[in-house]
Amino acid sequence: MPERVRDPVCGMELEEDQAAATYEYKGKTYYFCALSCREEFERDPEKYLGKETEEHRRRRGRFWRGLIGRCH
Ligand SMILES: [Zn+2]
Repeated sequence: MPERVRDPVCGMELEEDQAAATYEYKGKTYYFCALSCREEFERDPEKYLGKETEEHRRRRGRFWRGLIGRCH
């Protein structure tokens, strides 16, 4: 059974073997639904990990509502 992982950029859940892209950061592998999500992550990994700014949380909230169930 492949493990379920979460795309840290768009928040979509996917199975490890369905990931369109992976990226290793600080010894941990992250999985992405699309190359564009990985590129976004590479640009600024810290933005998507741990401490989030209030502004980012708001932005992601908007993002989520538009993308639920279909991602890209
Ligand atoms: Zn994604």
